Formats: sequence, structure tokens, C-alpha cells
Amino acid sequence: MTIKENISLLPYNTFGIDVKARLFIEYYSLDELRQVLKEHKGEQILHIGQGSNLLFTRDFNGIILHSGMARARFIDDETVEAQNGLRLDDLIAQLTDMAYCGMEKLSLIPGEVGASAVQNVGAYGVEAKDVIERVYTLDVETQEERVFSNEECKFGYRDSIFKHELKGKYIVTSVVYKVKPGEASKTREEIIQTRMAKLPTVGEVGSAGSFFMNPFVPEDKVNELLKLYPDMPHYPVGAPSVNQRSVCDGESGGTSCPVDLAERYQHRNLVAEREKIPAAWLIEQCGWKGKTLGGAQVWPKQPLVIVNANNATPDDIIALAAQVSASVKEKFGIDIHPEVNYI
Ligand SMILES: Cc1cc2nc3c(=O)[nH]c(=O)nc-3n(C[C@H](O)[C@H](O)[C@H](O)COP(=O)(O)OP(=O)(O)OC[C@H]3O[C@@H](n4cnc5c(N)ncnc54)[C@H](O)[C@@H]3O)c2cc1C
Repeated sequence: MTIKENISLLPYNTFGIDVKARLFIEYYSLDELRQVLKEHKGEQILHIGQGSNLLFTRDFNGIILHSGMARARFIDDETVEAQNGLRLDDLIAQLTDMAYCGMEKLSLIPGEVGASAVQNVGAYGVEAKDVIERVYTLDVETQEERVFSNEECKFGYRDSIFKHELKGKYIVTSVVYKVKPGEASKTREEIIQTRMAKLPTVGEVGSAGSFFMNPFVPEDKVNELLKLYPDMPHYPVGAPSVNQRSVCDGESGGTSCPVDLAERYQHRNLVAEREKIPAAWLIEQCGWKGKTLGGAQVWPKQPLVIVNANNATPDDIIALAAQVSASVKEKFGIDIHPEVNYI
């Protein structure tokens, strides 16, 4: 394993925040992970992946754990098991090259396999939960293995049991995904092109992707807002198909959902009990596109994203996010919540 003391976390978070960690440990096997957990029992531990959904708000006075395990293997023709430290997009690239499909719509989402199950990542109508069969973990306290079925993970929108009841209690060590033989290279390429046109490129512009989650708003409230804003995009939650419903998820669609889909929903007046309103649209309506606060900026091409435009401090980002959500609340009466994990 690799152990570093008092190091800068700058290379370990995509926001580009320069804070320090007391200890950084990278392990390369499950035995090493067990050993680390035993030796540091009771200490504050944060397991990170690529650090693409983290906002470090201050120095971290505990242990940052990272996996150096990054292999994948086919279990059979329909399931592939990937280790936690493998980049999700590297896995999808390999599967696509081998003419396997199912995960291509998650192409270019930053981050590692372990976090894909924690975050239930999603884009273009597919979420990790649609392709995850089971999740292997180690219990931080006992170091025993526990396997979670898809149902046991209690996946929701950018959510899983690992973010709530079991937060910090289990380390995801590998994930078994369902795949099937099939050509996916064209879709993968289209998605990569679309994402590159709209989203900040990791390594060039600091960000954590969508800063906020799209709010699910009660039907009465949606109808009330539609009287004031007849063009407001809104999508029934649990409407006809997952593919249609989630096309407008933050990173993939935001304010520029395919027009035909947006129109179809609005004209048929499909109002469910709760509806999703793109947070990007709400933020744009409040005039935030491109606005800056200190070194932080609301990304001009996709207002759901806050970027580190010019040596932003954590306080710049926190203050900008707070102002954005306060103005959405004031104008629309809707609470928007961060998707990004504040550490
Ligand atoms: C430019 C950009 C675009 C993005 N686009 C999308 C998108 O389209 N869709 C989407 O869903 N997300 C998107 N994101 C967000 C991000 O890619 C995902 O949240 C991703 O899953 C984070 O992976 P990571 O490995 O970087 O995890 P980190 O950010 O390092 O960690 C995220 C959380 O997972 C926990 N964690 C990490 N690894 C483990 C493990 N092995 N065991 C237990 N807990 C663990 C961490 O403690 C933390 O709570 C985007 C981010 C960026 C920067």
C-alpha cells in the first residue's frame, strides 16, 4: 500500500480545492484494506474515488482511503464484476470495444466503480441501478464481506443506502453489472460529444458536475407555477418510461431537453403527484448563468454546474451555491439541494 502524510488533496478532487489530509492511504488488495481498517479502527475515515463529487471545505484531519484495485472480469456472458478503483468510463470503453452494451449512456461520467453504486450515477435515462446486479462491500467495523443485492442498495435519484443508513459503515469493493452483447460505439460517441460540448472537462476546469439535484415538486405547486411560467419544463416522476423521463437529468439535458419530449409532456398535460423541474432552468431564470462570486462561477453552458473559474476557495463555492439556492427559493418557492458531498 502507499501511505502519505500531511498531503495536499489537490490532485484528488476535481473541484481543484487545495486542502490537506493528515493521512492518505492507497491499498491494492482486500487484505491490505482489512489491515488498514483494523489498524485505524475508530479514526475518522473517508473513502474517496476520483473525488469528482466532493467539495472539501477545510483540511481533513483523518484518513483518506483510496483503492488502487482497478480490474474487471466477466463472470459470464451477461455479468461483469469491476473492482472499486476502476474508472467507470474505462470500464464502459472496454465493454464497448468488446461489443457489449447496456452501460454506454453512462459514458464519460467521471468517477470510479465504487462510487457509481454509492451515488447511483445517471445520465440520458440510465442510472447505475438499472445495470447493477449486486455490490460487494467490506464492513468498516468488522472487516467482514457483505454482498448487497440491487434491492438492498435502496437506490434512488443520486441516492443509495450507502449515503444514509449505512453512510461510512461499508466500503464498496466491487460491483457486478449486467451487460449484454451488442454494438454501442455510436451511442457512446454521441454521448461523449454532447457531454464535451456542455460540461467542463475534468482536468481543465474544476467542478463536481451538477452542483444541485433536480427538485421533485408537488403537483399543486407545479400547476401554480405553470400559470406564471407557461414554458417551464416539467417531467412527471414515474412517467411512461425511465428512458423518456430521465433524458433531462442535470448533466445530460438541463435546460436543453430534446424539444419533442419536453413538448409531448407539457401538451399532454401529464401531471403526476410530484414532478421533476430541471434545477438548471430554475437557476437560469434567476439570472445566474455565468455569474461569479470570488473565484467561483455558475458555468455559462450549463447553470447546474458551479466551477472553480479562478482559484476559488471552498468559501467562494459555498457562498455562491447558497446564493443560488436562496434566489431559487425566493423566486419559485422551491428548495434545491446540493448533489455534491460537502466534506
Ligand atoms: C464534469 C462532471 C460531470 C459529471 N456528470 C455526472 C453525470 O452525468 N451523472 C452523475 O450521476 N454524476 C455526474 N458527476 C458526478 C460524479 O461523477 C459522480 O458522483 C461519481 O459517482 C463520483 O465518483 P468518484 O469516484 O469521483 O467519487 P467521490 O467523489 O470520490 O466520492 C463520492 C462519494 O462516494 C463515496 N465513495 C467513493 N468510493 C467509495 C467506495 N469504494 N466505498 C464507499 N464509499 C465510496 C465517497 O465517500 C463520497 O461520499 C459529474 C462530475 C463531474 C466533475
